[in-house]
Amino acid sequence: MNNRSKVTKLTTTKNQNKKNSSTTSATLTTENYYSLESDRVWQSKTRFREFEDCEAAALAQLEGRWNPDSNVEVLLVGNYLHSYFESKEAHQRFLEENSKAIYKYGKPEKGIKSSFRQADSMIDALEADANFNRLYQGEKEVVVKGELYGVQWKGKIDCLNLDRGMFMDLKTVDDIHKKHWDVDSHQYVSFPLDRSYDLQMAIYRELIHQQFDVWCDPYIIAVSKQVVPDKGIYSIPDYLMQERLGQVEMDQPRIESVIHHEEEPIRCEHCDYCRLTKTLDEVIPIDEIELY
Ligand SMILES: [Zn+2]
Repeated sequence: MNNRSKVTKLTTTKNQNKKNSSTTSATLTTENYYSLESDRVWQSKTRFREFEDCEAAALAQLEGRWNPDSNVEVLLVGNYLHSYFESKEAHQRFLEENSKAIYKYGKPEKGIKSSFRQADSMIDALEADANFNRLYQGEKEVVVKGELYGVQWKGKIDCLNLDRGMFMDLKTVDDIHKKHWDVDSHQYVSFPLDRSYDLQMAIYRELIHQQFDVWCDPYIIAVSKQVVPDKGIYSIPDYLMQERLGQVEMDQPRIESVIHHEEEPIRCEHCDYCRLTKTLDEVIPIDEIELY
């Protein structure tokens, strides 16, 4: 765990992005971290990935013109687990604020819904492990921000331990060993690659260094949603993080110009947003239908 990752030299261009450089006085807090307002000031791994997937959909979301259906229960189950490991107070507050969604008929006396009972067994699987308890020590839910290649970025670290030079992110997953088809590389990849966790960890490592002047090694602690939960702790090879930072440097100028309406967003033509806004403006021969 001590293989210190190589330092990446980040080239930054001053005032490359007028919008970002003029709004850096805004405050980033735990409360506004997930708001559209803060997303418009700070780039994040989630938004960056959305722009990589479909610029038209990502821009519509960022500008509040489209709000995709997200699986609220899946999000809440993840937050349930995260708040538990954050602190007793945070978990209690989460239970109170989301009682309608968590309890049967919204009433605590009726018991919790099955998906949250499942989250309890994931919590038990981690808590019963002495190594997890020893490892998962540090400051929880730490908001970080900084500049990558001339653009302001933000991140939220599940557990940061500057003394040990490490940070950890808790991830819930259906099955740790499930394979995921990657369209770009034409091969199956693991869940962290499918979800761009290598990108997320590379960015967080840079932001932590900028904010605290400490290089930390990232670890993913995964726990599965299977009846008997699986778990694992994973490191991210340095070459992958270097590649992902290279991707940020390469793709970011295009994304910024789309955000600032200097270039037209490209439609992917197969996501929810593109299907929703599609018009029948061309006739396609049946032997030319695009296959994904
Ligand atoms: Zn699309």
